[in-house]
Amino acid sequence: MTETLAAARVVTPAGVLAPGVVEVDGGVITAVGSATGPVPARTLVPGFVDLQVNGIDDVDVAGARGTDWDRLDELLVAQGVTAWCPTLVTNALDSFAAPLAEIAGAAARPPDGRPAIAGAHLEGPFLGAMHGAHPHQHVVPFDDAFLKELPPVVRLVTLGPEQPGAPAVIADLTNRGITVALGHSAASFDEVAAAAGAGASLVTHCFNGMPPLHHREPGMVGAALSDPRLAVSLIADLVHVHPAALTIAFRAKGAARVVLVTDAVAWRSHTVGDIRVRFDGRAPRLADGTLAGSALSMDRALRNVVGHAGIGLADAVRAAATTPADLLGLADRGRIEVGARADVVALDDDLEVAAVRIGGERVR
Ligand code: ZN
Repeated sequence: MTETLAAARVVTPAGVLAPGVVEVDGGVITAVGSATGPVPARTLVPGFVDLQVNGIDDVDVAGARGTDWDRLDELLVAQGVTAWCPTLVTNALDSFAAPLAEIAGAAARPPDGRPAIAGAHLEGPFLGAMHGAHPHQHVVPFDDAFLKELPPVVRLVTLGPEQPGAPAVIADLTNRGITVALGHSAASFDEVAAAAGAGASLVTHCFNGMPPLHHREPGMVGAALSDPRLAVSLIADLVHVHPAALTIAFRAKGAARVVLVTDAVAWRSHTVGDIRVRFDGRAPRLADGTLAGSALSMDRALRNVVGHAGIGLADAVRAAATTPADLLGLADRGRIEVGARADVVALDDDLEVAAVRIGGERVR
């Protein structure tokens, strides 16, 4: 049965229809066009795709079991997220098997009415020189056996391109269908360029976990902002990155090369895997003040870049949905267009989440 969703604005890859209408049948978008007649005062956007979620509120991804995954689903839906990457940070090599098996189990649940787990994101342990909140003792050189035996649930790996052998590892992971991101690194501009040449396609939380831009040693930030092969993810909580730096990233890259991530952690339960954090009212931190993920939600990230960084809604939506889907090769998500999965979020005039559909099913 065809359902018709009309709205004052519909954000599509081809532009904003105002007013617009979306037809949904069998969980798929079957038509998109201009509306005639009265329409509800809301904005329809594609469901958001968050590539970096370590936890939310009081649920840590690394320790999630059983019904914790249902709670994560609810928390994600509340922020308009319809596909995501549970993210594990640096830890001992032999500690990853159990949480990755949990993530694979959660991903294999019936898809009805819940955000899709697009695959796990391993942020570490093969990082570069800037560890941030990652436990130093567990940042290690590439381990061939570990990499060879990565389970298929791993979809995204953040690594340091200054690690010896990085181009070969990046080429191998990319050939296996794993998206490679660069981050937590003091790599040179040339090392980052070599990594992009080998297939890396993303710089993880640009500006954070890397030295600032230097005009004679442009390093990772300089490569990230200037190399069209690389997209950049941004933590737009207005704590990790100044609004002006968000604007710079969008202007330098264009919206098709920017990804909004939350990098959220279980700030309320003070845990990220084995790491203890405290919440200072704005962001979670280690005892020494080092930022340790965020308490951000994707809908707030969208509002922040629109409201504080001067980014147009369509570009912000692209960064929150379309570009992250593209980086994972999910051509049928993150966009309101014919043939795409009907993952559709209705935003009110304040860009707050008013309703969510996943595969056409109303879940909020
Ligand atoms: Zn990080």
